[in-house]
Amino acid sequence: MINRRNFIEGIASGIALSRLGAAGALGLDREGTTADAHPQESWIDNGMIDAGGSHEPLIFVTRRGGQSVDARRMIEYQQSEDVVRQLKDQGVEVFHTHLYKGFGMVAEKPEMEDTVRTAQMVHRLGMKIDTYIQWSSMMYETFFAEEPRAPGWIQRDASGQPIMLWYSYQQSFRYIPCFANQEYLDYLKKVVRFAVEEVKTDFIHFDNFGQNAEPQSCHCDTCKNGFRAYLRNKYSPEQRKDRFGFENVDYVNPPLWNTQNPPDQLDVIEEPGIQEWIEFRCQTMANGLAQMVDLIRASGRDVVVEVNCGGITGDNTPWTRGADHARIFKLTRSFWDESDQRPEYSPDGRLITAIRTYKAARVYRNVALLNTWENESAIAECLAFNQTIGFAGIIPLTPEMVKYISFYRRNRNLYVGSSDVASVAVFRSHPSITYHFSKAGLSVILAEQVLIQARIPFTLILDEDFSRLSPAICKVLILPDSECLSDEQLAAVRKYVDAGGGLIVTGRAGFYDSWRRSRVTPGLQDLVGWRAAASTPMNPMADAAPIAAASASRNEFGRGRVVYIPELVFDGPLPAFDVYFTIGTNFLKRPKNWKELIDSVDWAARNDLAMRVAGPDFLGANLVEQPDKRRRFVHLVNYNASKTPAIENVEVKCALPKGSSARGVSLYSPASENSIPLQFQMQGATAVFSIPKLNTYCVAMVSW
Ligand SMILES: [Zn+2]
Repeated sequence: MINRRNFIEGIASGIALSRLGAAGALGLDREGTTADAHPQESWIDNGMIDAGGSHEPLIFVTRRGGQSVDARRMIEYQQSEDVVRQLKDQGVEVFHTHLYKGFGMVAEKPEMEDTVRTAQMVHRLGMKIDTYIQWSSMMYETFFAEEPRAPGWIQRDASGQPIMLWYSYQQSFRYIPCFANQEYLDYLKKVVRFAVEEVKTDFIHFDNFGQNAEPQSCHCDTCKNGFRAYLRNKYSPEQRKDRFGFENVDYVNPPLWNTQNPPDQLDVIEEPGIQEWIEFRCQTMANGLAQMVDLIRASGRDVVVEVNCGGITGDNTPWTRGADHARIFKLTRSFWDESDQRPEYSPDGRLITAIRTYKAARVYRNVALLNTWENESAIAECLAFNQTIGFAGIIPLTPEMVKYISFYRRNRNLYVGSSDVASVAVFRSHPSITYHFSKAGLSVILAEQVLIQARIPFTLILDEDFSRLSPAICKVLILPDSECLSDEQLAAVRKYVDAGGGLIVTGRAGFYDSWRRSRVTPGLQDLVGWRAAASTPMNPMADAAPIAAASASRNEFGRGRVVYIPELVFDGPLPAFDVYFTIGTNFLKRPKNWKELIDSVDWAARNDLAMRVAGPDFLGANLVEQPDKRRRFVHLVNYNASKTPAIENVEVKCALPKGSSARGVSLYSPASENSIPLQFQMQGATAVFSIPKLNTYCVAMVSW
């Protein structure tokens, strides 16, 4: 556990901030789960260049069907020394391959032994091995034959039917195991133990880390009893009465649905049983993962844990997948996002990026893995925001990827140990977003979109770090329709602003508590400066209604500044939401009043932002630093390189720590072997310079 004292001493003695990650850089020391109590130093702190190799074993390829008659030879080739050597020659450092798909260890033993031999060869070649373990599939035909208890380990819906994968049309042989079932988790531990002890793996990829959306949630007895026990543990009898109207939860069941009340059309989730069921499903996944992480850490080996749980996209993942990133990412050092939203700037002004996902990864010291290799802007974005290569693809690698691997390896010291610098924090409030995705989920996406396209350095802040935010570190906090704020969070906001923080409130932020109960008076009323209207016992919300339509305002509070914006207005007709109110890439454009938000950020920050970059709307920028080496980096990405292959004369202002003066500015890019020195001027503690030409990616290093 890194505590604040160590953090301060770390700065004083010049210890690299890499160990703290971005959350550390914000001064946010995090209390966490058991597994989080000892954040490990790991080889992944030195970056990651991973590629395969297929991760499907022959048993699966055969049972799935549609394979080549030559499948055995092809799969053996994918694990061959020839393939591993080719990847190594192209700069790959971690080899990705199959280990366990869910058929049971007896059925898969021969191919698991193949992986043991492959791992020995990979290690002999001086590389690391990344092994695939399926989290969410039990191929019952072989598994039941091996393990007689297994029929009691699978997820069953409300009518007792086995729950299957939500994708893959012809794979009804794959049941989903119940993650609340300790016997199943104990079985999975045998697989993990094999990976650690026999394979001597360096990296475990848990695939399919998620549950199915309602109505396909598990209603087995373990889950029903587990849900009731969860409620009894979480709340005192008095709190349960407050929550449900009664104390005894012995007969509470998971929610049910019918054709008139389909879960995919549920917009505002305010029923306490459904809210708690969402939290139970998320906690069940995190608990299962924590058991695996504890087992791995107890081995004493440096094994990186990664889960394929998706990133920060337009999905309400706690609701639809039982996946709460705040609970997961503190257990992992890496995660996959397969959403495949390729970076793109469209003629209608939409900018599709994976920046949110990378920002979340950085907050939790994780490396995000995305399918980047076919798109140079995607590879560039990964380097700029993820600060490493991540997943480079499957053999043969693309020429673009080979070029970027080479660049990264030549200039690795620019990336390793960096931490994000953020002037603005966007609050991703879990209850607000989860319980009203179409509004709070969309508002946070729109606020982030404004910052992304204005190239304002920002970070994401989640509930657990909220109370520790300080204006000394982060100038502005944005609450984009953060509807559900607890009393503690309201107090923390007040303290933050009183101490000089800038606050931007939009829409109905603070109108509800964390159970989404309406507050009698809006929680941020005094900060925003609304005059309290008289509420009456007959209509306690009488004062809230006019405020919802209130006009924009600016207000001084304590030493800080507060802005209210009634709404981030979608620009044009609102596209239709997908089922479960999923927000597709057609929403990824700046709101109509984006300038109002930018002006508000400037005002709330007293025009003191750490970076300014002038350029077209499809230019992305990130600011990171290596304070122990006394240098900051401005990374630039051209998201429209296919149509605009060069952007010229990009004006950059990069703030340095107060009282500092730059010693030099150097430009690095994959287009050039060597760095190029740039002319610069100092304006106070800000270095001002111009980048003559950017193709797809470059990074400017400012030393002081
Ligand atoms: Zn269950």
